[in-house]
Amino acid sequence: MRKRYSIYSVFGTLFVIVISFLTIVVLVTYYMKSQEYKLILDGDKSQLDQESEALIKLTGNTMSQVAWDYTYWDELVLSVESKDPEWFEHNITTIITSFRMDYVAVYNKSYKLIHEASSPSASASSLIPESIFDLFKERSLVSFFIKTDKGLFRVFGATIHPTSDPLHNQTPASGYLFVSKKWDDDFLNELSTLTGSSVILRDTIKDKQDSGKYSIISIQELIGSQGRPEAWIEFTRESSVLKRYRESTFNIVLLLSVSLLVTIGLYMFAVMRWGINPLKRLIRYIEKEDSEGMRNLKSASTEYSKVGMLLADHFSQKEELMNAKRMAEESDRLKSAFLANVSHEIRTPMNGIMGFAALLSEPGLTEEERKEYIQIIEESGNRMLSIINDLINISIIDAGQIKLNLSQFKINELISHVYDFFKLEIEGKAIKFKCNKGLDDDSVILSDRDKLYAILVNLLKNASKYTHSGTIEFGYSLVDKSLKFYVSDTGIGIPKDRQEAVFGRFIQADENISKYYEGTGLGLSITKAYIEELNGDIWLESEPNKGSTFFFTLPLNL
Ligand code: ADP
Repeated sequence: MRKRYSIYSVFGTLFVIVISFLTIVVLVTYYMKSQEYKLILDGDKSQLDQESEALIKLTGNTMSQVAWDYTYWDELVLSVESKDPEWFEHNITTIITSFRMDYVAVYNKSYKLIHEASSPSASASSLIPESIFDLFKERSLVSFFIKTDKGLFRVFGATIHPTSDPLHNQTPASGYLFVSKKWDDDFLNELSTLTGSSVILRDTIKDKQDSGKYSIISIQELIGSQGRPEAWIEFTRESSVLKRYRESTFNIVLLLSVSLLVTIGLYMFAVMRWGINPLKRLIRYIEKEDSEGMRNLKSASTEYSKVGMLLADHFSQKEELMNAKRMAEESDRLKSAFLANVSHEIRTPMNGIMGFAALLSEPGLTEEERKEYIQIIEESGNRMLSIINDLINISIIDAGQIKLNLSQFKINELISHVYDFFKLEIEGKAIKFKCNKGLDDDSVILSDRDKLYAILVNLLKNASKYTHSGTIEFGYSLVDKSLKFYVSDTGIGIPKDRQEAVFGRFIQADENISKYYEGTGLGLSITKAYIEELNGDIWLESEPNKGSTFFFTLPLNL
C-alpha cells in the first residue's frame, strides 16, 4: 500500500525546503559580501602600510643627508680636537635652524660630549645614550628613536672623518655628530596632512586594533637604540568606499531578507487561503453533509469551487434520491393501508347488498320490510359507486388526464343545487345548514361546472361526516378578481400538525379514528387536484373540537 501523506506534511516540508534554500541564499550572499569587504579592507590596509612606511623613510632622508654630509669635513675634525665653542656655535648649532632640526650634539672619539644645542621648543639635552656608540663599530651612520620626558625624538648619527674620506671608511672616527628631530604635534600634523589620515603616537600596542567601522589602520614600529620598538605610530584613514560598500551590502542583505519574509508570508497566505482552508472546510462539509457550506465553497476560487459545485450537486441529488425513497416507502406504506382500508370499505356495502338481497328472497316479507331492504341495497350500491368513482378519479389524476369541460354557468344556481342536495341529510342530524352567495343570481362564471360541483360536494360530505352538532355553512365571495369559496363546520376539527397532510393521498387526519369514520382518504387529494387544475388554491383553518373551515379560490375567468 502506498504511504499516505497529509496535506500539512507535504506543504510543510515544501515550505521548510523553500525557506531553507532561501535562507542559504541570504547567508551565502552575506558571506560572499563580507569576504569581498575583507579583500577591499586588506587591499586598502596594505596600501596605507606602504604609504606610511615610505613617508617615515622620506622624512628621515634629509636628516641622514645632513648627518652624513657634515661629517667628512676637516674643520669639524680639528674643532673636535680644539673644542672651540664659538666654532660649534657658528657651524653646528646653525644646523637646527637651517634644517628644521630640534637637537644637535657632537662627541669626541672617546664618546665625550663636546657640544650640544636644542631648539627652544624641544629644550632637549643629553639625548644620546652611551650604548649607541657600540653600533658605530660596524657602521658609520646610525638612526634610532628615543623617548624622553620631553617627547619622542628621531636621531641620526654619523662618525666624523677628514674631507679626504667621504665614504667614512678610510680613517678611524675622529668624533660623532648627532642630529635629531622631535616628533611633536606639528610634525605629526604634517604627516597627517601628507597621508590624509589621522596620526597618533602610541607607547604600547594592543593585540587587536579597534578599527572604526569604516576605517583602515596602519601601525609602524619606531625602533629605538636597542633595536626594540621605542614607540608606535598609528595611521587611521576613513574609507568612504568601504562605507558605501558596507551600506550596499547591508541593503542587499536587507532586500533579500525582506523578500524572504514576503515570500514566506505570501506562500503561507496562498497555501492557507487557497489550499488548506478550503480543503478543511470541504472535509467538514462532507462529514456534516452541509449543503449550505457547499454553496459557500462554490464561491471560493480555484478548483475547490468546482469540487464544491460537484459535491453540492451530488448532495442535492442524494437528497432528492432520499426524498424519493422516503416518498416511495411512504406511498408503499399508504398503499398497503389503503388496500386494507378499501377492501374494508368495499366489503361493508358489499355485505349489505348480498345480505339484504338474500333477505329479499325470503317468503312472507311485508311491504315495508321489502322497501327497507331495497333502500339499504341502494345505499350500499351508492357507497360502492362512490368508492369506485374515487378510485377511478385518482387514477385519472395520476395519469395526468384530467379533462376540463369549461362552460359559462350561473354560479348561484350551482350553489342552490348543492344546498338542496345536502339540506335533508344535514338538517336531519339537527345541524344548522346555511349558504352564502356573493354575486347576483344572474352572475355567470366560466369554469368546469361538474368539477366545482364535485369539489363542493366533497368538502360538504366531509363537513357533514365529521360534524355532530352546530352549524355547517358554505358559500363564496368576490375577492380580487377571483371567487373565494369556503366550507365551514363546527365538527371535530383537525390538529395543526395534520393540516398539511390531509391533502395527501390515503391520509386521514387521525389514523386512529379512521375506524369510526368510513372513507378512503382520497377525497381531499382529488379535490386539491381539481382546484389546482382550475388554477386555484386550497387551504384550511381548523382547531380540534371547534371546527374546520376549508377555503379555495377560483379565478373569475379562466
Ligand atoms: P376521507 O375519505 O377519509 O374523508 P378525505 O381525503 O376526504 O378522506 O379526508 C382526509 C382526512 O381529513 C379525513 O380522514 C379526516 O380525518 C380529515 N378531514 C377532512 N375534512 C374534515 C372536516 N371537515 N373535519 C374534520 N376532519 C376532516
